[in-house]
Amino acid sequence: MSSGHALANDPAMQEECNPFLSMARGFNTAADHLELDEGLRDVLRSPDRELKVSLPVRMDDGRVKVFTGYRVQHNTLRGPCKGGIRFAPDVNLDEVRALAAWMTWKCSVVNLPFGGGKGGVICDPRTMSKGELERLTRAYTIAIMDILGPDRDVPAPDMNTNEQTMAWIMDTYSMHARRTTTAIVTGKPLSIGGSQGRREATGRGVMISANQALKIVGLRPEDTRVVVQGSGNVGGIGALLMHQEGYRITSLSDMYGCIYNENGLDVPAVMLHLKETGRLEGYAEAEHIESSTQLELDCDVLVPAATENQITSRNADRIQAKLIVEGANGPTTAVASKMLEDRGVVIVPDILANAGGVTVSYFEWVQDRMGYFWTQEIVNSRLEQIMVQAFDEVAETAKRYQVGLRTAAYILAIDRVATVYRMRGLFS
Ligand code: GLU
Repeated sequence: MSSGHALANDPAMQEECNPFLSMARGFNTAADHLELDEGLRDVLRSPDRELKVSLPVRMDDGRVKVFTGYRVQHNTLRGPCKGGIRFAPDVNLDEVRALAAWMTWKCSVVNLPFGGGKGGVICDPRTMSKGELERLTRAYTIAIMDILGPDRDVPAPDMNTNEQTMAWIMDTYSMHARRTTTAIVTGKPLSIGGSQGRREATGRGVMISANQALKIVGLRPEDTRVVVQGSGNVGGIGALLMHQEGYRITSLSDMYGCIYNENGLDVPAVMLHLKETGRLEGYAEAEHIESSTQLELDCDVLVPAATENQITSRNADRIQAKLIVEGANGPTTAVASKMLEDRGVVIVPDILANAGGVTVSYFEWVQDRMGYFWTQEIVNSRLEQIMVQAFDEVAETAKRYQVGLRTAAYILAIDRVATVYRMRGLFS
């Protein structure tokens, strides 16, 4: 599932897979439709602030190792920055910068009062102990604390970070602020100010988006075969919820391999196996197939819910799905996206399809600030309302401008931020 393999020694592929260039391509297409002038484009494209930090951490064997971390704040016109923190060996500034910009557009598509930010630390969490991860998380929090705050920048989980990571961030920030500040971070455990439904929110949003998109391609869940790349917080939970909804999930994958059953997987049983053994490998009721061929399986809906640059100009022609629902951020390059849309494939873009997570993060932040917590039913129904409305608005924009859903989502998002900019004016 790594994006690195295709890139070596191929400058055109390297450019295609640069997430910031991909984001900029999407942005420019939408900006052309909106006829934005060059000055405004520059304002909206440029990240407000980029922080790079060195993080000395004492490892379990007594040595001190210095890690590198980033936090990029892309835009705060609509409110505090919002966006996750990822821990991965291939984190780099261009990626974090693109992901931060995507958060600005994502929050705007679903109309949350937030701007966009993203953080990352270069590390391999699989090789680190819990103690090492805690010390790294605390070092990172201290290093970026001056630019964080419930009204400034509110992190959340992303790849390889979870509720525990958020709890450490909340504690580190609170100990320095000398008061418990739950709204500093979202995606926390329920016991310390987390929200009902946050853990499932991104997967639930993917399911809601798929339900809406099925109406466009004229399918019913029970007639729909779905291939899900991934099996984690987004892919795994998304697959479970879609399975409950009646979809036939035929394939799931993890970083070690891929399973396939043309009659549909018993997703709860797969998830139990994954929980017990830590991998999909060894699950009996399915064929084990090459991960590299998964995206090209015969299916109706493809849900790439793993990482960036999985669908590129190299495999776009071999994708058989009619509908792609992007659970991951940036799984399809701008070039591949155009190739697919040109042959009629409907793509629900990441900034809409995976916005369920940040939407319930918003609910968590609101609840923390009120000190009053909602039931799961209230969270889920408000999430559904926001996602369905955003989907309808994007679909309407697509019709009005005669463009695909990705460009429409960018148009809607950028127009909202541009409107705020025009109202607020330039402070100088
Ligand atoms: N990391 C998630 C995303 O990419 C969630 C961000 C948040 O909840 O702030 O949308």
